Amino acid sequence: NTFAEIDLGEALNTNIRRCRYVKPTPVQRHSIPISLAGRDLMACAQTGSGKTAAFCFPIISGIMRGGQPVQRPMRGARTVHPLALILSPTRELSMQIHEEAKKFAYQTGVRVVVAYGGAPINQQLRELERGVDILVATPGRLVDLLERARVSLQMIRYLTLDEADRMLDMGFEPQIRKIVEQMDMPPPGDRQTMLFSATFPKEIQRLASDFLSNYIFLAV
Ligand code: AMP
Repeated sequence: NTFAEIDLGEALNTNIRRCRYVKPTPVQRHSIPISLAGRDLMACAQTGSGKTAAFCFPIISGIMRGGQPVQRPMRGARTVHPLALILSPTRELSMQIHEEAKKFAYQTGVRVVVAYGGAPINQQLRELERGVDILVATPGRLVDLLERARVSLQMIRYLTLDEADRMLDMGFEPQIRKIVEQMDMPPPGDRQTMLFSATFPKEIQRLASDFLSNYIFLAV
């Protein structure tokens, strides 16, 4: 019933204490053990439910366990290879996720970078060049970065679709499909996918059956 009881690792637990989180919220209590166990997840979660931590904690914990932060571009190369991708519908939400994720990843060696549309790309490119483990992005801007070959998704081990219903409402389905296709190029990685959505219309169910494998459905 406390975060300390969940096996997230000492560094992350210290940051959780710094954030003054004591008890997991219901979505966190149920989803974190599923994600730590490596299962794909489709979760019903509203804004304010604590879903950001629900997907960030297992990603940060998993990357630390893997022992391979920080992903920097090779000398002279400009393409970065993040290990985790969090897709979100809007610039505002991306910025919020980035701010929270940075607090959770503080002093862990895991580096979080954000890229969203409607803002100059140059600053974002400079941040990417310094290395990135977790990329938080809006779909349109990420497609731009992929077309410029500044980001490669070949190393992605964790994919999160946040507010998936809103992304579809905004017309991002073609971009999302294009993005996920790039992760399925050989060699086939064992990717873990988490889909968070407030509603579950047919289109979301189709997305889940296309992108998730043998997933657990969580409604809290
Ligand atoms: P979210 O739904 O991820 O946008 O989170 C809503 C708000 O709840 C944010 O301000 C979080 O920092 C906060 N929060 C998330 N999880 C917890 C927790 N376990 N204990 C206290 N506050 C939390």
